[in-house]
Amino acid sequence: MRTTIRGAHVFDGERALGAADVVLEDGLITAVGAAPDGTADVEVDGRGGTLLPGLIDAHTHVFDGSLAEALRYGVTTEFDMFCLPRPLARHRRLADQHDDVADLRSAGTIATAPGGHPTQLLAALTGTVLDPSEVTEIDHVTDPAQAGAFVKARLAEGADYLKLVLDDGAVHGTDLPRLTPAVATALTAAAHEVGLLVIAHAITAAEVDLALDAGADGLAHVWADLPPEDRDSRRLAERIRARGVFVVTTLAYFEALSAQRPGATVCSHPGHYANAVGALRALHRAGVPLLTGTDATPFAPAHGVGLHRELQLLTEAGLGAEQALAAATAVPARHFGLTDRGRVAPGLRADLLLVEGDPTRDVAALGSLTAVWRRGVRHDAGSLASGGV
Ligand SMILES: [Zn+2]
Repeated sequence: MRTTIRGAHVFDGERALGAADVVLEDGLITAVGAAPDGTADVEVDGRGGTLLPGLIDAHTHVFDGSLAEALRYGVTTEFDMFCLPRPLARHRRLADQHDDVADLRSAGTIATAPGGHPTQLLAALTGTVLDPSEVTEIDHVTDPAQAGAFVKARLAEGADYLKLVLDDGAVHGTDLPRLTPAVATALTAAAHEVGLLVIAHAITAAEVDLALDAGADGLAHVWADLPPEDRDSRRLAERIRARGVFVVTTLAYFEALSAQRPGATVCSHPGHYANAVGALRALHRAGVPLLTGTDATPFAPAHGVGLHRELQLLTEAGLGAEQALAAATAVPARHFGLTDRGRVAPGLRADLLLVEGDPTRDVAALGSLTAVWRRGVRHDAGSLASGGV
């Protein structure tokens, strides 16, 4: 079946192309430009709207229902940054077999010290959003000599990249064991040996330095312990740029932490949000590749709508709307080696959004979603809103 979406303003993942026709067939984009009349089985009038690549959230945690919720907001791919092996196998099957949910990539089991972040959260979630029968002991590495075996086990569980945690709990108001620099370095080397990217969770400037020393390819968060305009943020941003490391933004995560009520599992300080924005600005000024991410969970930020919030916060922090949209489409696809998506171009997956208005001027237009295509299968606004996708 051939579908032609006519006359929408097209943002191709990197830049606005102006009005164009986009042709989809067998789950792929087959043409971008002017399509002759009468050649499509289905014609969609895109005039007055904007067509853009499906959104990518580069930092989430997938639980039951998460992938369906994401798709309702136009998030067609999620990069999960820690999922237990049993639920992960189930989420993968769902994403492979169904087009009414977002696709996913996953780190599988996270590398952390025994008792380290986020094992305290795992305990709190067991029996609520995690089925106790699916909660298995997680592997730990305490000696650099175990790094190769740990990475091999992640490959066996189908991990697409390695996630390691460098967090002593200080930003969360606790004191937690943390991977040693020697173990972090050995894990990174072992992952690189088998061609896996390494994404580090580091939440303070000192931890970011540790992640860079270990050789990480990307950071799962900005740091949140330095006041805005702190000189060390400039040094760090420069070091990240020089190393060719990318950063997943997660401002919505810091916003949610700062708003959290007393008694919540994770507590934080309202100042951390302003600090995170300061770090983001330093990274943007230094020209570091930025990938949108939310750290979405069943709590806050939520899957899907959280990414809309992230884009809003990024533009408030100084990114242009097109830069923010690129950070949610072409940039994450490129840095994670997903050559089949992230742009509107012939030969790529037909993961697309049609919205009213022009999000390249104001990202708030993403709230006016008309339709989402996932692998060429269309879901219109009515079915998306009702949750019936
Ligand atoms: Zn996370």
